[in-house]
Amino acid sequence: MSEIIAIKAREVLDSRGNPTVEVDVITKQGVFRAMTPSGASAGHHEALELRDSDKTRYLGKGTLKAVDNVNKKIAPKLIGLDCRHQETIDSILLKIDGTENKGKLGANAVLPVSMAVTKAGAVANGIPLYMYIGELFGVIPHRLPVPMCNVINGGKHAGQENSIQEHMLMPTGAKNFTEGIRMISESYHHLAKLLKEKFGAGGILIGDEGGFAPAQIIDIHDRLDLMLQAVENAGYNNMMKIALDPASSEFFYDGIYKIGEKSYSGGEMVDFYVDLCKTYPIVSIEDGHAEDDWDSWVEMTKKLGNRIQIVGDDLFVTNTKRIKKGIELQAANSVLIKLNQIGSVTETLNAIKMAQDAGWTAVVSHRSGETEDNFIADLVVGTSAGQIKTGAPARSDRNAKYNQLIRIEEELGEKAEYLGVDFRELL
Ligand code: PEP
Ligand code: MG
Repeated sequence: MSEIIAIKAREVLDSRGNPTVEVDVITKQGVFRAMTPSGASAGHHEALELRDSDKTRYLGKGTLKAVDNVNKKIAPKLIGLDCRHQETIDSILLKIDGTENKGKLGANAVLPVSMAVTKAGAVANGIPLYMYIGELFGVIPHRLPVPMCNVINGGKHAGQENSIQEHMLMPTGAKNFTEGIRMISESYHHLAKLLKEKFGAGGILIGDEGGFAPAQIIDIHDRLDLMLQAVENAGYNNMMKIALDPASSEFFYDGIYKIGEKSYSGGEMVDFYVDLCKTYPIVSIEDGHAEDDWDSWVEMTKKLGNRIQIVGDDLFVTNTKRIKKGIELQAANSVLIKLNQIGSVTETLNAIKMAQDAGWTAVVSHRSGETEDNFIADLVVGTSAGQIKTGAPARSDRNAKYNQLIRIEEELGEKAEYLGVDFRELL
């Protein structure tokens, strides 16, 4: 029943209207489908996303080469194997590719195969996907994540240059995940009201991750003030914390960080964050410094690491080699986890494990270019990671994940755990 009978890839569209790869893994128990997301503020050290570079199709962004790699190079090597052998299958995928960064097949070819195999494995074992991921990872899943919801989009996700990318609310005062999402949704709509009053229709245009992208407010203080006002108007004063992802590699030029018209050294950026943390209930800052500015990361962690979560995204790219270096240098205390940065389920689980073994947290994340695939919802529960960031509570590419988490919470019933303000507690 668990033998892989066929694998078929095709080119479909992602949430930005760009092509991406979808894969069907077929066993006697059905068709198991997975899709690859895609970043915009992608890190330089990520695994390769293979694009066709044929300007006559999708402005060069076609994925037919990656599709071909699945159908012609991967499928023949996996047909006949047992879909429950995740680690073996992922190691075969790495072997067929043979490069450090999935440079031959493309992570966008390898990853959806790996994810679809996991989905097939769960059904072969007769358990929900999050439970099966728990088995692969070595925990009994019961923890729902505290969400980081990106209600104001800036930077590349909003067509802006030299601007903070993500301004997120975390419903730490909720009693469970489902209530947390309700609080977020209500605050989001109160924010819309404030923005509409202040800026008219242009104030409520939205960015790639479903958050508002008001071009009129560049200053982060103004953005955070409006968010907190919306939270208060919704009646949730002191029940929400703030998380930021400046995605600062995008505004780092030859050693200088530029936000709006202002320039900062790495050390001045640390002071900038220290000041922000004095004024606002900020509990987490991701990519406060650029992907190779290790010294500034170390300084930031020294100054703020005992008070808030310092998350590496472009810095670590879900890659255990870079995470190991970060742990040795004490350059952060948390890792952002994106499946397609590394390209297989097993490597992703290893990255989470390495972080947690070091006493660090792991935050499971979407990409700015998403799909209806909600795999990461099961991944975050299956690994007990305790935190997920997957955009505003708007647009179905984002809500597909939140909705799956609502279902999982219902299914776990009494066993479900939501840590709220203790979201950094490890198992
Ligand atoms: C991020 O930077 O955390 C993010 C989700 O953006 P992207 O997918 O564009 O890298
Ligand atoms: Mg990021």
